[in-house]
Amino acid sequence: MKVYEQLLKNNEEWAKKRVSDDPEFFSRLAHLQTPQFLWIGCSDSRVPADMITGTQPGEIFVHRNIANMVVYTDVNLLSVLEYAVNQLKVQHIIVCGHYGCGGVKAAMTKHSLGIINKWLRNIKDVYRFHREELDAIADEEARADRLTELNVREQVMNLAKTSIIQKAWKYENKPHLHGWVYGLKDGIIHPVFEMTSRTHIDPLYEYDDL
Ligand code: ZN
Repeated sequence: MKVYEQLLKNNEEWAKKRVSDDPEFFSRLAHLQTPQFLWIGCSDSRVPADMITGTQPGEIFVHRNIANMVVYTDVNLLSVLEYAVNQLKVQHIIVCGHYGCGGVKAAMTKHSLGIINKWLRNIKDVYRFHREELDAIADEEARADRLTELNVREQVMNLAKTSIIQKAWKYENKPHLHGWVYGLKDGIIHPVFEMTSRTHIDPLYEYDDL
Protein backbone atom coordinates (compact mmCIF):
# COMPACT_ATOMS: atom_id res chain seq x y z
CA MET A 1 0.00 0.00 0.00
CA LYS A 2 1.28 3.46 -0.89
CA VAL A 3 1.71 5.89 2.02
CA TYR A 4 -1.08 8.17 0.90
CA GLU A 5 -3.44 5.22 0.47
CA GLN A 6 -3.04 4.55 4.16
CA LEU A 7 -4.59 7.98 4.82
CA LEU A 8 -7.66 7.09 2.78
CA LYS A 9 -7.97 3.76 4.57
CA ASN A 10 -7.67 5.50 7.95
CA ASN A 11 -10.33 7.96 6.87
CA GLU A 12 -12.74 5.19 5.91
CA GLU A 13 -12.30 3.54 9.30
CA TRP A 14 -12.67 6.85 11.09
CA ALA A 15 -15.92 7.69 9.27
CA LYS A 16 -17.35 4.23 10.04
CA LYS A 17 -16.45 4.57 13.71
CA ARG A 18 -18.10 8.01 13.95
CA VAL A 19 -21.34 6.70 12.48
CA SER A 20 -21.36 3.63 14.70
CA ASP A 21 -20.87 5.84 17.78
CA ASP A 22 -23.35 8.49 16.66
CA PRO A 23 -25.52 7.77 13.58
CA GLU A 24 -26.43 11.48 13.19
CA PHE A 25 -22.82 12.72 13.37
CA PHE A 26 -22.36 13.66 9.70
CA SER A 27 -25.93 14.62 8.85
CA ARG A 28 -25.89 17.09 11.76
CA LEU A 29 -22.57 18.67 10.74
CA ALA A 30 -23.37 18.76 7.03
CA HIS A 31 -25.96 21.47 7.57
CA LEU A 32 -24.35 23.70 10.13
CA GLN A 33 -21.12 24.68 11.80
CA THR A 34 -21.33 26.76 14.96
CA PRO A 35 -17.81 26.83 16.36
CA GLN A 36 -17.20 29.01 19.40
CA PHE A 37 -13.48 29.24 18.74
CA LEU A 38 -11.15 30.58 16.08
CA TRP A 39 -7.71 29.03 16.32
CA ILE A 40 -4.72 30.78 14.77
CA GLY A 41 -1.88 28.31 15.09
CA CYS A 42 1.42 27.25 13.58
CA SER A 43 1.46 24.99 10.52
CA ASP A 44 3.80 22.64 12.40
CA SER A 45 2.51 19.07 12.01
CA ARG A 46 3.06 18.40 15.71
CA VAL A 47 0.47 20.96 16.84
CA PRO A 48 -2.93 19.74 15.61
CA ALA A 49 -5.52 22.19 16.98
CA ASP A 50 -8.38 19.77 17.50
CA MET A 51 -6.38 16.87 18.89
CA ILE A 52 -4.53 18.84 21.57
CA THR A 53 -7.70 20.62 22.70
CA GLY A 54 -9.98 17.57 22.59
CA THR A 55 -12.38 19.34 20.23
CA GLN A 56 -14.54 17.60 17.63
CA PRO A 57 -15.36 18.55 14.03
CA GLY A 58 -17.61 21.61 14.10
CA GLU A 59 -16.16 23.03 17.31
CA ILE A 60 -13.12 24.98 16.20
CA PHE A 61 -12.49 27.15 13.12
CA VAL A 62 -8.84 26.93 12.16
CA HIS A 63 -6.25 29.08 10.44
CA ARG A 64 -2.63 27.99 10.44
CA ASN A 65 0.53 29.53 9.05
CA ILE A 66 4.24 29.52 9.83
CA ALA A 67 4.67 30.74 13.42
CA ASN A 68 0.98 31.67 13.96
CA MET A 69 1.26 35.20 12.65
CA VAL A 70 -1.36 37.93 12.34
CA VAL A 71 -0.13 39.97 9.38
CA TYR A 72 -2.25 42.89 8.16
CA THR A 73 -1.51 42.35 4.50
CA ASP A 74 -2.41 38.65 4.68
CA VAL A 75 -5.75 38.46 2.88
CA ASN A 76 -6.07 34.81 3.87
CA LEU A 77 -5.84 35.56 7.61
CA LEU A 78 -8.07 38.63 7.32
CA SER A 79 -10.73 36.68 5.43
CA VAL A 80 -10.72 33.93 8.04
CA LEU A 81 -10.89 36.52 10.81
CA GLU A 82 -13.73 38.46 9.21
CA TYR A 83 -15.73 35.30 8.58
CA ALA A 84 -15.14 33.88 12.05
CA VAL A 85 -16.07 37.13 13.81
CA ASN A 86 -18.91 38.43 11.66
CA GLN A 87 -20.54 35.27 10.33
CA LEU A 88 -19.71 32.51 12.78
CA LYS A 89 -19.74 34.95 15.73
CA VAL A 90 -16.99 33.12 17.60
CA GLN A 91 -16.69 33.87 21.31
CA HIS A 92 -12.96 33.28 21.57
CA ILE A 93 -9.92 33.69 19.34
CA ILE A 94 -6.84 31.73 20.34
CA VAL A 95 -3.39 32.49 18.95
CA CYS A 96 -1.39 29.40 19.81
CA GLY A 97 2.36 29.24 19.36
CA HIS A 98 4.58 26.41 20.47
CA TYR A 99 7.97 26.01 22.07
CA GLY A 100 10.55 24.68 19.63
CA CYS A 101 8.94 26.57 16.72
CA GLY A 102 11.13 26.35 13.61
CA GLY A 103 9.80 29.66 12.32
CA VAL A 104 10.75 31.49 15.50
CA LYS A 105 14.19 29.85 15.57
CA ALA A 106 14.81 30.70 11.91
CA ALA A 107 13.91 34.34 12.58
CA MET A 108 16.72 34.45 15.16
CA THR A 109 19.35 33.45 12.60
CA LYS A 110 20.96 35.26 9.69
CA HIS A 111 20.06 32.55 7.16
CA SER A 112 18.28 33.70 4.03
CA LEU A 113 15.35 31.44 3.22
CA GLY A 114 14.00 33.07 0.08
CA ILE A 115 10.41 34.20 0.17
CA ILE A 116 10.08 33.04 3.80
CA ASN A 117 12.37 35.96 4.75
CA LYS A 118 9.45 38.34 4.27
CA TRP A 119 7.29 36.33 6.63
CA LEU A 120 9.98 35.87 9.27
CA ARG A 121 10.79 39.57 9.23
CA ASN A 122 7.62 40.08 11.25
CA ILE A 123 9.11 37.90 14.00
CA LYS A 124 12.43 39.74 13.76
CA ASP A 125 10.46 42.92 14.46
CA VAL A 126 9.08 41.32 17.64
CA TYR A 127 12.65 40.47 18.67
CA ARG A 128 13.69 44.05 18.03
CA PHE A 129 10.86 45.41 20.24
CA HIS A 130 12.12 43.21 23.09
CA ARG A 131 15.82 43.10 22.27
CA GLU A 132 17.03 44.09 25.73
CA GLU A 133 15.11 41.31 27.50
CA LEU A 134 15.91 38.68 24.89
CA ASP A 135 19.62 39.48 24.51
CA ALA A 136 19.97 39.04 28.28
CA ILE A 137 18.95 35.37 28.04
CA ALA A 138 22.16 33.40 27.52
CA ASP A 139 20.67 30.01 26.67
CA GLU A 140 19.59 29.93 23.05
CA GLU A 141 16.64 27.58 23.56
CA ALA A 142 15.34 29.62 26.49
CA ARG A 143 15.68 32.76 24.37
CA ALA A 144 13.69 31.17 21.54
CA ASP A 145 11.03 30.06 24.04
CA ARG A 146 10.71 33.58 25.39
CA LEU A 147 10.52 35.01 21.87
CA THR A 148 7.75 32.49 21.15
CA GLU A 149 5.76 33.84 24.12
CA LEU A 150 6.39 37.47 23.15
CA ASN A 151 5.46 36.72 19.56
CA VAL A 152 2.13 35.22 20.62
CA ARG A 153 1.44 38.32 22.71
CA GLU A 154 2.29 40.58 19.78
CA GLN A 155 -0.01 38.65 17.43
CA VAL A 156 -2.90 38.93 19.90
CA MET A 157 -2.27 42.68 20.02
CA ASN A 158 -2.22 42.72 16.22
CA LEU A 159 -5.73 41.23 16.31
CA ALA A 160 -6.86 43.99 18.65
CA LYS A 161 -5.53 46.61 16.23
CA THR A 162 -7.84 45.46 13.42
CA SER A 163 -11.11 47.23 12.72
CA ILE A 164 -12.74 43.78 12.57
CA ILE A 165 -12.04 43.14 16.25
CA GLN A 166 -12.61 46.71 17.38
CA LYS A 167 -16.01 46.76 15.69
CA ALA A 168 -17.02 43.43 17.25
CA TRP A 169 -15.87 44.65 20.67
CA LYS A 170 -17.89 47.84 20.28
CA TYR A 171 -21.17 46.33 19.06
CA GLU A 172 -21.15 42.77 20.41
CA ASN A 173 -18.75 42.88 23.36
CA LYS A 174 -16.80 39.89 22.04
CA PRO A 175 -14.61 38.00 21.17
CA HIS A 176 -12.19 37.31 23.99
CA LEU A 177 -8.59 37.05 22.71
CA HIS A 178 -6.13 34.50 24.06
CA GLY A 179 -2.40 33.93 23.61
CA TRP A 180 -1.29 30.38 24.33
CA VAL A 181 1.93 28.42 23.92
CA TYR A 182 1.96 24.65 23.48
CA GLY A 183 4.82 22.53 24.78
CA LEU A 184 6.06 19.94 22.29
CA LYS A 185 7.87 18.11 25.08
CA ASP A 186 4.92 17.57 27.40
CA GLY A 187 1.80 18.36 25.35
CA ILE A 188 0.70 21.05 27.80
CA ILE A 189 -0.72 24.42 26.68
CA HIS A 190 0.38 27.47 28.68
CA PRO A 191 -1.82 30.59 28.56
CA VAL A 192 0.59 33.56 28.39
CA PHE A 193 -1.61 36.53 27.50
CA GLU A 194 -5.23 37.55 27.06
CA MET A 195 -7.32 40.53 26.09
CA THR A 196 -10.94 40.66 27.08
CA SER A 197 -13.43 42.55 24.96
CA ARG A 198 -13.01 46.34 24.98
CA THR A 199 -9.50 46.26 26.40
CA HIS A 200 -7.89 49.56 25.52
CA ILE A 201 -4.78 49.48 23.41
CA ASP A 202 -2.44 52.31 22.49
CA PRO A 203 -4.87 55.08 21.39
CA LEU A 204 -2.89 55.46 18.21
CA TYR A 205 -4.46 52.20 17.02
CA GLU A 206 -8.00 52.82 18.26
CA TYR A 207 -10.65 53.85 15.73
CA ASP A 208 -13.42 56.05 17.08
CA ASP A 209 -15.69 56.13 14.04
CA LEU A 210 -16.47 52.44 13.49
ZN1 ZN B 1 5.97 26.52 14.63
